[in-house]
Amino acid sequence: MYAGHIGIALGAKGIRDSIPLWVLVLATQLPDWSDAGLCLAGVRPAIPGIYTHSFPAVAVLAALASLFYYALSRDSAGLWIVGAVVVAHALADYVTGLKPTWPGGPMIGMGLYSYPWIDFVVETLVIGAGWLLYRRTFAESRRKTWPVNLMPAALVLFQLAAMIALSISPTLRKC
Ligand SMILES: [Zn+2]
Repeated sequence: MYAGHIGIALGAKGIRDSIPLWVLVLATQLPDWSDAGLCLAGVRPAIPGIYTHSFPAVAVLAALASLFYYALSRDSAGLWIVGAVVVAHALADYVTGLKPTWPGGPMIGMGLYSYPWIDFVVETLVIGAGWLLYRRTFAESRRKTWPVNLMPAALVLFQLAAMIALSISPTLRKC
């Protein structure tokens, strides 16, 4: 999943407005950014994503993100939401891709990337749902302003661009 991950962060912000959006964006992207970081560091495991998207890896990343947020805020209820956003990243990836479970375990996922338009519709729905929740955090008077309403359109356009880039170059990876 690409732009849909940001939709999940927006939805979490709508559920608990006190968590800074940047923390939720970090949480929602953490498995992918960890993947990119490892890749740039030259760590390329035989099973892609085993260190960042497998069950144990996601548990560790979720715990790290939760602890980081707790250290920052002392918000003991919000830390569960931050952790859940990391877990939601993996769950979303199981829908769109194919991810490892544990060392020696099976790869699981629905692999919607093979059906770009279905993937596009799913990501658009996730963005829309997340944005509707996020929109509630704005005062009634601001909800109809163009920056608020442009946000989901920008994310859907980004997703469309990613879909086109991937269809032109199917071997394109995130790192
Ligand atoms: Zn991912």
